[in-house]
Amino acid sequence: MKNILMIICDQLSATALKAYGNDYVKAPNIDSLSDNGVIFENAYTSCPLCQPARASFWSSKYPHQTKVLSNLPDQGFDTFSTEIETLGDLFSKNGYDCVHIGKRHDYGALRGFKIMDYEQIKSERDNPAITVNYETFYDEDTTKKMIHYLKEEASANPFLAVADLQNPHNICSYIGENELGHKDFGINEDELPPLPDNYNFDDALNRPEFIQYMCCSHRRQSQTIHWGEDDFRHYLYAYYHYIGVVDKQIGKILKALEESGKKDDTMIVLFADHGEGMASHRLVTKYGAFYEETNRVPLIFSGNNVKGNRKVDGLVSLLDIYPTLADYAGITTYKKEEGISQYNQIIGESDTADNEYVSAQWYDEYDGYIVPGRMYLDKDYKYTVYREDNSEELFDMKNDRLENINLAVKPEYKNILEQYREKLKNHIEKTNDNFFSLKSEYDKKYRQHKPGMENHTGPNAVLDYSERLKQKK
Ligand code: ZN
Repeated sequence: MKNILMIICDQLSATALKAYGNDYVKAPNIDSLSDNGVIFENAYTSCPLCQPARASFWSSKYPHQTKVLSNLPDQGFDTFSTEIETLGDLFSKNGYDCVHIGKRHDYGALRGFKIMDYEQIKSERDNPAITVNYETFYDEDTTKKMIHYLKEEASANPFLAVADLQNPHNICSYIGENELGHKDFGINEDELPPLPDNYNFDDALNRPEFIQYMCCSHRRQSQTIHWGEDDFRHYLYAYYHYIGVVDKQIGKILKALEESGKKDDTMIVLFADHGEGMASHRLVTKYGAFYEETNRVPLIFSGNNVKGNRKVDGLVSLLDIYPTLADYAGITTYKKEEGISQYNQIIGESDTADNEYVSAQWYDEYDGYIVPGRMYLDKDYKYTVYREDNSEELFDMKNDRLENINLAVKPEYKNILEQYREKLKNHIEKTNDNFFSLKSEYDKKYRQHKPGMENHTGPNAVLDYSERLKQKK
């Protein structure tokens, strides 16, 4: 029997986990998966936003191919294209019980899964300092129902069961509730995590305007713009807390799998739809920047058929999950999708992923602020471009993984920049992407103050909180 248990977290950055070098977070159950499993060191989402990312990995297609481009509930068409075979379609057709519990945000790309409803369960908070717990309550019910499924409902057929957990996405609500500065947690300063090494960076004014004005276009970013270092450290403390919260649920699910007697027949895959800014470049949550913290996600396989206790280098995309799971299940009948199978890497036949590059896309969140962007990443450089004056970034990923210096503005990198423009262009042609005919569209009110997020104040700043902040003080 070749069962699959998928555990998805929302907004979990690879940068936040021990498996990827973080010493501050406490997530023993995720650690147990990575200690015994295969860690893909460089896994990337195809879009740093929930709904486009999810529609993409459920179908192994890029957002421009699924046409699910933003978080809007209406993308201008009714159903996820029946031309595209989803993971649920493929596995249910091949005799699997496909069950999904938890966060959806899929725009119909979960077709083929039996979707179970879930609700909020309000339980005791385990850290009284953190008062924002909305999404935690959903995760408790998702966990409860997954435990029931694994122990009582799984039948004689193999299963593809998905526990789609919301945390650490709760950090979004935390930011909203602390927009005027952090509440007193009553904890010592030495308990607060340090700021990342790229919290301060010198070339903010060398970044695309789209990024310099994220304070006006992105609500969560605007809420942090008057924060000081202490606020950002409290925010990181809260983010790690929510990772601990979801880790606890993951522990219960893993225990249930063991008690069900099905563990030896089950491969487990843990990943996230996208990451979290984590105060890198002073950014929070996720939006249209393609930096590591929001775009690089955990991808960990363990259990049945997995040759564990290994790390796989090279680049992988969440689009690779679909063909990898099909390979594991012995399903060969699927149409060639955009991702490639990493099954040889999982079973120990190779320690390097096969992708020459990965790519990601941006369009809009949901409020009509459209600045299409593309990211192209290979082992040497990360290249990004936005359809607004074709503004670009180029980062040396071997020597500047923190993305502190945008090389695209440096004349001595002209030749390399030209090479990467060409590489992206080839990828765009290969995937029939209409990127170069897309246009930026937004109200000019979002670009009225002087460039740079530090200038976000007064009547020219959209969603400026400085007046309310003065009232508070
Ligand atoms: Zn602004």
